Amino acid sequence: MRPVVRGNYPIDCHGDNIQYHEYSDARGELIGRIGEYCSYCEMQLDSALAVEHIQPKKPRGCTQIDSQREMDWNNFLLACPNCNSTKGNTDVVLDDYLWPDRDNTFRALKYSEGGIITPALQGEMAHKAQNTIHLFGLDKMPSIITDMTDMNYKNRASDRRWNNRREAWDNAERAKKRLSQNDIDELREQIVETAQANGYWSIWMTVFEDDPDMCRRLIEAFPGTCKDCFDATQGYKPVKRQGGQC
Ligand SMILES: [Zn+2]
Repeated sequence: MRPVVRGNYPIDCHGDNIQYHEYSDARGELIGRIGEYCSYCEMQLDSALAVEHIQPKKPRGCTQIDSQREMDWNNFLLACPNCNSTKGNTDVVLDDYLWPDRDNTFRALKYSEGGIITPALQGEMAHKAQNTIHLFGLDKMPSIITDMTDMNYKNRASDRRWNNRREAWDNAERAKKRLSQNDIDELREQIVETAQANGYWSIWMTVFEDDPDMCRRLIEAFPGTCKDCFDATQGYKPVKRQGGQC
């Protein structure tokens, strides 16, 4: 999960914090700051990308919308329909999970061949990483569906996130192989453009983890990536985020 910097509250022409009347009005500014990607599964998408409330505007069991949460810039990220609906209106205790706008979520989650996501750290952080994976259904795999009459089959079949991650992994591996055969600047640029168009930044970063130049390019090419989460003197290895849990 790409660690991002949402940045300060957007301001209006008078220098005051913008007061949103509809939370969806923040969508354009968010895309400009952190790119047109789901903040959780990292899918690239355009019209279906929605403003997501980290803490739900109407938590489960509540009858009233929490207007403070609903319009709070610091409570906004972007989410695809699958991540949005899987998380639903679960009223999260923030510290039980890891968040891309606060923690170094790339350091805490391990991406493996086939697009599999598992905790990367040990102990408490592994537990929080697992909570996070589960909250968004990042461990859902369509291949385990055996019963086609399952009521949830349609929902799960429409969840392309795992398939997309697997494809992204294969694309990144192929790109790495091409680069090993013909390592020119132009090809490096092309690969980064392909990654930008496809999304799944964490997968590209993982496949190219031994290539600091590619890591630097990927960090710079995706808007809002938290640069402080990586040590440029150590080949852009992920490091603990200041103020974050990991
Ligand atoms: Zn998503």
